[in-house]
Amino acid sequence: MKTFDIAVFEGDGIGPEIMGPTLDLLDQVAATSGTYALRPQIAPAGAAHYAKTGESLPEASMDIARGADAILLSAMGLPDVRYDDGTEISPQIDLRKALDLFAGVRPVRITPGQRTPLKLDGGQHIDFVLIRESTEGLFFTQGQGAVTECDATETLRITRATSEKLFRFAFRMAEKRKAAGHGPGHLTCVDKANVFRAFAFFREIFYDEARSFPEVTPAHAYVDATALWMVEKPWVFDVMVTENMFGDILSDLGAGLMGGLGMAPSADIGEDHAVFQPCHGSAPDIAGLGVANPFAMILSGAMMIDWLGDRHDLPQMVADAERLQAAVDTVLADGTTITRDLGGQANTAQAAAAVADALGDV
Ligand code: ATP
Repeated sequence: MKTFDIAVFEGDGIGPEIMGPTLDLLDQVAATSGTYALRPQIAPAGAAHYAKTGESLPEASMDIARGADAILLSAMGLPDVRYDDGTEISPQIDLRKALDLFAGVRPVRITPGQRTPLKLDGGQHIDFVLIRESTEGLFFTQGQGAVTECDATETLRITRATSEKLFRFAFRMAEKRKAAGHGPGHLTCVDKANVFRAFAFFREIFYDEARSFPEVTPAHAYVDATALWMVEKPWVFDVMVTENMFGDILSDLGAGLMGGLGMAPSADIGEDHAVFQPCHGSAPDIAGLGVANPFAMILSGAMMIDWLGDRHDLPQMVADAERLQAAVDTVLADGTTITRDLGGQANTAQAAAAVADALGDV
C-alpha cells in the first residue's frame, strides 16, 4: 500500500475548525479504498504562530512542506497580526514563491441546490476551471513597486519559460477533463492582447503550445469580455488560462457565482509540489463558534487526492476524489444540513458529518 506524506498547515481563525473534519473525511475515504494511506504531519505557521514566536513560516515547517507528497493548507492570516511594515502575514504566498507553484487552479462548479446569483433554468451545466499564473504577471514586483511623491510604477512580467509550463499544464488539464467526460476539451487564453504587447507575446506562446495538444481546441478571449460572459453565459467555458492579476480578479468572480467563498476550493501547483487550500480567509468574525462552512476545505482535499492519484497513476484515488466531491454535491442538493453562509442552520461538525454519511451512498 502506498502511503503519502501530507504537510498540514492548520491555519488561523476558522482554519483548524475546518481542517479537522476534512482530515477525518480523507481518512475515511482512504480507509474505504484500502489501497493507499495519508500520513498527515502538522506544520506550524501563520499569524497566530507569528504573534507567539515572531516567525510566520519557520524553516522546520518549510522542510515538512518540501519533504511532503502534497500540502494541505487551511485559511491563514489575522487582521490584527501584521509584520512591522504593516503587511499581512500570508505564508501561503511565501510557499507559492518558494516552491514555484506557477499554476493556480480555481474550479467553478454549480450543482443542483447550490446558491448562486445566476438565474439558471436548470438546463445549463456550469463546471469550468480557471487557471491563474501565480508567480509573475502583474505580481512580479509585489512589495517592490517604485513609488515617489509624484508617481508609482509596478512591472508586469511575462516569461516564455513560465508561460510554456503554464500552458502545457492547462492543455493537459483540458485533455484530462475531456477524457474523463467532464468537458469538451476547450482551452481559452484570457488576455488583453489588443492593448499590451506583453499579452500578444503571451497569446503567441499559447498557440505555439496548442500544436502539441491536437485533442484540445484552443481559443482566446479578452479579459473584459470574459468577465461579462462569466456572468451572462458561464456554461460556455471549459478551461481558461490567464495572467496572475486577471486570474486573481476572475477567480473571486467565480467564487461569487458559486454562492460565496465558503464553496470555493483551490490548488497551487508546480512541477514538484502542490498546495491545496480553500479560497476564503480565516473569517475571524465567526472563528471559535464552530459554524464555518467546511465544504471549500473538503473540496480542496478532494482536489489533493485527485492530483496525487493522477501523478502516481492510482486511478482509485482519482475515483475517490470524485466520490468525495459527489458526497458534498449530495449534501448541497438535499439542503437540510448546510451551514449558515449557505442559508442553512448546520454547524461545521454537522455539515461534515452529513458528507461522511453521504459518502456511503455515492
Ligand atoms: P482574506 O483577506 O484573508 O482573504 P477576507 O477578509 O477577504 O480574508 P474572509 O476571511 O474570507 O475574508 O471572510 C469574508 C467573509 O466571509 C466573512 O464574513 C466570513 O465570516 C465569511 N466566510 C469566509 N469563509 C467562510 C466559511 N468557510 N464559512 C462561513 N463563512 C465564511
